[in-house]
Amino acid sequence: MSSGAIPAKAHGLVADVLMPVALDIAYSYAVPPGVALAPGVFVEAPLGPRLAVGVVWEVRPGPGSPGNLKSIRSRLDIPPLNESLRQLIDWVARWSMSPRGMVLRMAVRAPFHATPEPVRVGVRLAGPTPRRMTPAREKVLAAAEGRGIFIKSALAKAAGCSASVIDGLIDEGVLETLTLPPEPVALPCDPHFAAPSLSPDQSEAALQLESSVRSGSFSVTLLEGVTGSGKTEVYFEAIAAALDMDRQILVLMPEIALTTQFIDRFQARFGARAAEWHSGVSAPRRARIWSAVAAGEAQIVIGARSALFLPFNALGLIIVDEEHDSAYKQEDGVIYHARDMAVVRGRIEGAAVILASATPSIESRVNAGQGRYLHVKLNGRFEGRAMPVIEAVDMRLKAPARGKWISPRLAAALSETLLRREQSLLFLNRRGYAPLTLCRSCGHRFQCPNCTTWLVEHRFRKALACHHCGHIERRPDLCPNCEAADSLMACGPGIERLAEEVGELLPDARVMVLSSDLPGGAERLRQEFEAVAAGECDIIIGTQMVAKGHNFPLLSLVGVIDADIGLTSGDPRAAERTFQLLQQVTGRAGRFETAGRALVQSFQPEHPVMRAILSGDSERFYAEETEQRRRAGLPPFGRLAALIISGDDSASTENFARAIARTAFELPLSPTWTLAPAGGLPGENEISLLGPAEAPIAVIRGRHRFRLLVRAPRSTDLQGFLRALLAAGPKERGGIRVTIDIDPQSF
Ligand code: ADP
Ligand code: ZN
Repeated sequence: MSSGAIPAKAHGLVADVLMPVALDIAYSYAVPPGVALAPGVFVEAPLGPRLAVGVVWEVRPGPGSPGNLKSIRSRLDIPPLNESLRQLIDWVARWSMSPRGMVLRMAVRAPFHATPEPVRVGVRLAGPTPRRMTPAREKVLAAAEGRGIFIKSALAKAAGCSASVIDGLIDEGVLETLTLPPEPVALPCDPHFAAPSLSPDQSEAALQLESSVRSGSFSVTLLEGVTGSGKTEVYFEAIAAALDMDRQILVLMPEIALTTQFIDRFQARFGARAAEWHSGVSAPRRARIWSAVAAGEAQIVIGARSALFLPFNALGLIIVDEEHDSAYKQEDGVIYHARDMAVVRGRIEGAAVILASATPSIESRVNAGQGRYLHVKLNGRFEGRAMPVIEAVDMRLKAPARGKWISPRLAAALSETLLRREQSLLFLNRRGYAPLTLCRSCGHRFQCPNCTTWLVEHRFRKALACHHCGHIERRPDLCPNCEAADSLMACGPGIERLAEEVGELLPDARVMVLSSDLPGGAERLRQEFEAVAAGECDIIIGTQMVAKGHNFPLLSLVGVIDADIGLTSGDPRAAERTFQLLQQVTGRAGRFETAGRALVQSFQPEHPVMRAILSGDSERFYAEETEQRRRAGLPPFGRLAALIISGDDSASTENFARAIARTAFELPLSPTWTLAPAGGLPGENEISLLGPAEAPIAVIRGRHRFRLLVRAPRSTDLQGFLRALLAAGPKERGGIRVTIDIDPQSF
């Protein structure tokens, strides 16, 4: 990788090098004579006993002789990080209060992967006919006929058979294999490849987005429109404009399963595949994409939140699809919200940012309302297709029998839909079979040994699992406490249990259970979604992952099993989240020719969230919810941070948390903030503390957690206060850690 020394006249220069490790400071090194360095350049330099790769952050004149500074070892042949990406890294570190090296690490993990991408195996017809014909073999031959070279797995898929059928034909010499280079990361996209004709409404929206892109300057537009209104078609026009201008484009998606679906749609529109970037993409391929992005060869990247830190040099457009989705928040390592940081990157790059959603976050709505963002709306579905009819099922009046979760009305609707050969979706936001298992004879409940959570039964896997730490144990036959036999009882519903109930109600229905923990990962999910779209199942049962942006062409009925689940938490965003989730999941119904219908089972249909969902009056919901946030001084009207203090021992961790809180009152006076008197809202330049108190999940992975909430008006320098507090407060010791979460999403 080393490109050797590059001659330069500079002598006595010092380079400050940031290393991709948990350090905030850049280390200073002497620049050896003859090595030309500039900010952004990758170098190798000694760090402790080893050589480490880092990025030059600054080059400045130093003492005439290197003195006791260690020297840069070599300059690496990796495209340098440009100034805007370095600015973004500094900005995110300051904002999230993470060490800069940790943020750098997110940006430079990929390029160090030197192993090349594996070659692919292609197959094609070789000539001889098979000795023995089977229906599966016939399908393979039909699929391969006259169509040149196939990737092996693609041929199996096209023929709808297993890979072993292909292998058999290869062994007989009917198919021959050849070695193909890895799939290219960057093929040219054609902005005019298959442009649709837009409705007048869509055209107007597209024009507005295009003009933001063509202005070549920073702007944020909230693109709001119900599911099926054509938001994607419309922002494709913005992408076309950016392609036309030779600018790069980044599209962020909250979930991997969505990116793969999107790539196909993108290819149909622009004639080439976009580069895909997320944890499911192999490391060697990511390394190639990283370089292609830096070289400007990859014009468009579709990715998860980490794509935000790719080394674009000509970024003209960032799209954040499903911008309200809480999956955009990274909750460990560097804690940041990708939607917000996308706006920051757009500002630094002078790029247009589009936030798209059918159910925008209150934050984005308020920003649009106050004129900080442009607001482009699509009213109604494409071609006037009807929104689903939404009805409540009041579970207080017509509850199903004990241990059952499908009301008679929903059961009848499911059966009618099945008779019409249309699809239904049952939504329940609980993975597994049952959220709690207890012993009927002694009352023993199965709790996670590492967390204050109940173990969730997964019947297909015959296991009890913790959804917080991953602990998994076999479901015993006897109660471990009283040794009673046959006494264990599942309490509450999970999607697996729901599948069982559907099986009893409609034994002929083909049922598919979809959740994020499906074995087989993203690829398996993609196949399952394809199968759904191809009509290979009648009833889909899924968790929140089915609510997100997927197209289910044949779906006409949505049943929400327990609409109130999310409302019971003490989280101030609970109402917003539940509203978004219900709006999204009911919106899956009838996106195409079939009219849609949604039945929402609820124990409190009079709740404002349920009323908004049932009446379709989202404006009123947004207005009321916004007003409540304003009155409570919650984001986006005020700023919030959570300090999580965690340790192995409850008492010492709590003491530590209390000591931090006490420190706040002993800090020297600051011109930018003062501590608000206890209770009440913090006023201008004031900070108020809440807690410490036990965190909502008091123990995770054996670590006791206490939480201190810090609240301030928008104008207050919250990070400045936190820096002062942590500098003056007790130092982390004895395994106690302080984690800062700026703008926590749930608490
Ligand atoms: P959203 O992103 O708002 O949910 P989509 O862009 O996915 O909406 O559009 C919903 C469906 O309607 C898609 O199948 C899409 O192809 C189709 N559609 C929307 N607008 C048009 C158009 N102008 N011409 C053809 N099909 C369209
Ligand atoms: Zn656990």
